[in-house]
Order: sequence, then structure tokens, then C-alpha cells
Amino acid sequence: MPRYEYRCRTCGDTFELSRPMADSSAPASCPSGHEDTVKLLSAVAVGGSAGSAPAPSGGGGGGCCGGGCCG
Ligand SMILES: [Zn+2]
Repeated sequence: MPRYEYRCRTCGDTFELSRPMADSSAPASCPSGHEDTVKLLSAVAVGGSAGSAPAPSGGGGGGCCGGGCCG
């Protein structure tokens, strides 16, 4: 289950919650009970099929024969 980080705008505390992605935008109360919280961008990578950038085809990176330097 992905973890989301929230920040309380009342006391300024930050906290993490593990909750389903479907509930990621649901209101979260801070440990002190305040409800004025905002969800922070999470750095946790969650494997999934939604919105992942396709890998560039061909080339290995840093090698020859990829930028027209050969031949
Ligand atoms: Zn709070």
C-alpha cells in the first residue's frame, strides 16, 4: 500500500499515512486532530500502469552507434 505524506496547516506538522490510492485525495487528519491538511508530493514510486513514461527505444546510452558517430 502506498504511503502519502501530508502536512497540517494548523500546526505545521508533517505525517505519513498508508492508504489505498483511491483514498489518496481523501481528507486526512493530522496526529493532533487537525483537519486542515494538504497532501504533499510523494517521492515513493509505486509500480503501476498509469502514467508511466515509455522507455526510449534503441540505444544504450553513452555508447557509440547511437548518435551517428559510427561509420
Ligand atoms: Zn495539526
